[in-house]
Amino acid sequence: MIVFENVVKRYPGGYTALGGVSFEIRHGALAVLSGHSGAGKSTLLKLIAAIERPSSGSVKINGQDISGLRPRAIPYLRRNLGLVLQEHRLLYDRKVFDNVMLPLVITGHPPRDAAKRVAAALERVGLAGREREMPAGLSGGEQQRVAIARAIVNKPSILIADEPTAHLDTAYADEIANLFKSFNSAGVTVLVSTHDERLFAQHNPRRLVLGKGMLLGEAA
Ligand code: ADP
Repeated sequence: MIVFENVVKRYPGGYTALGGVSFEIRHGALAVLSGHSGAGKSTLLKLIAAIERPSSGSVKINGQDISGLRPRAIPYLRRNLGLVLQEHRLLYDRKVFDNVMLPLVITGHPPRDAAKRVAAALERVGLAGREREMPAGLSGGEQQRVAIARAIVNKPSILIADEPTAHLDTAYADEIANLFKSFNSAGVTVLVSTHDERLFAQHNPRRLVLGKGMLLGEAA
């Protein structure tokens, strides 16, 4: 469950990226966040991951107010969150295996079980057996799948993705959307930002629309 209560985000320098945003995303929902470039989509997602802090208002994740979370507590929050963010690029000098393994290394997972989890995550995104390949040898769509495998390897209850289909052709974009839908069908709460209104259309998602830092409501 993700709850925003009157969240304002002002960046240093005074720019107001979010001007008082309130909404609730229930456990198990599939939600799509859309809006023009600069509307505040990335900012909203970064607040959920505690990468940014609200200037005022509160952000609650699974009942916990994370607005003033101490830095030490952030890794515990992130264990429960799968993040596919634009600035979280793959490590191009490491194999697919090491990229997907990374969150498990950070959380100190036992290595043998971790290797099984990596294999299972790659299978879930349709890249079974590709552990030894280098990311640069994969297509754009496959690289995005590796990023998604990395996001879900910890079995998070919430999966957040910032424009995961931005640089993909329509057919690949639909495949990625279907992949997010499949995680959602397995019980994961999914929130994806996009400027492609058509994305997820057949899955009847909850739609949140941002304009100039304000929630414009919910489009059908
Ligand atoms: P979107 O994802 O919808 O394109 P963003 O959340 O990235 O929107 O940006 C919203 C506004 O906040 C933009 O005007 C952007 O320039 C500004 N912004 C984003 N990040 C920062 C930052 N770190 N410092 C200052 N301004 C920022």
